[in-house]
Amino acid sequence: MSTPLPDLIARVETEYRHCRLCPHACGINRLTQDPAPGAFCRLGETAYVYKELLSLGEEAVISPTWLLDLGGCSLRCLFCTEWAHVVEPRAAPAVPLDPQWFRQRLALRRQQGARTVSFVGGDPTVSLLGVLRALQAVPADEMLPVVWNANGLLGDVAREVLAQVVDTWVLDVKFGNSACAKRISGEHGFDAAEQPWHTLRWLLRPSAHNERVPQVVVRHLVMPGHVDCCTLPVLNGLAVLQTGLAGDRLAVNLMTLFLPAGPAAKRIPATPELSRLATKDEVARAVGHARATLGLWGLDGDVR
Ligand code: SF4
Repeated sequence: MSTPLPDLIARVETEYRHCRLCPHACGINRLTQDPAPGAFCRLGETAYVYKELLSLGEEAVISPTWLLDLGGCSLRCLFCTEWAHVVEPRAAPAVPLDPQWFRQRLALRRQQGARTVSFVGGDPTVSLLGVLRALQAVPADEMLPVVWNANGLLGDVAREVLAQVVDTWVLDVKFGNSACAKRISGEHGFDAAEQPWHTLRWLLRPSAHNERVPQVVVRHLVMPGHVDCCTLPVLNGLAVLQTGLAGDRLAVNLMTLFLPAGPAAKRIPATPELSRLATKDEVARAVGHARATLGLWGLDGDVR
């Protein structure tokens, strides 16, 4: 980290006074009330943890990892498995992320075999200040590499601060076009399909001398009814990005086990196709295209 953590915290505190951490750019002061009126993410300055566990089931480069699920998100994907915690980030069982608890729990999870600590959600970016304050409670020699498991919607300050803290990014690239993004993740004043690409291109740009070089894992979930409009364009885009990149800087995890969840599982009129599983044919086409474009391989299409 070339900028000391207290300086990064001060920068993010300043940002919270007129928050533009994500593309919603609400411009409101998050330090005065919790939750802050007008915050799309329904958060103030406190980060809320609603679940934590030692996970052996993430990508090999980060497992076993201590997963911390933080409430709140900048999207409203109708198939979200974490829907309740996205729309009500402070509701029980969520508790404020306490820095001393974080330090103690991290020590325990290290003892149990965690190699990394993963911040996930919802989306963790909307909770950045609380996360940085927790990290500050841990001496450098007790810390684990940080994984940022996010939707890729980052304002400039969030991106630049996180670039100094994060070792491995796990980014979801869900949508192959803006119409699907709008219909499934909500109408916003920005293009939710394009935003993760913007972040990816920035993370994978040629790094300046002595800059931290992040490792990036992209997850793409094959959504039923969205192979042609979303999966194939996303895989094509990733193949273009991967061209010319060194070694393992960009890994791709094609996830084929879609389970209906969130409002979509109730077969709402907006997204009837998301109330079912992906068919064998859809999965086969997605896996076949991943093999052809990215040279991916793996069991059941899950590529690690
Ligand atoms: S994090 Fe995003 S959604 Fe939340 S207040 Fe800031 S700009 Fe708005």
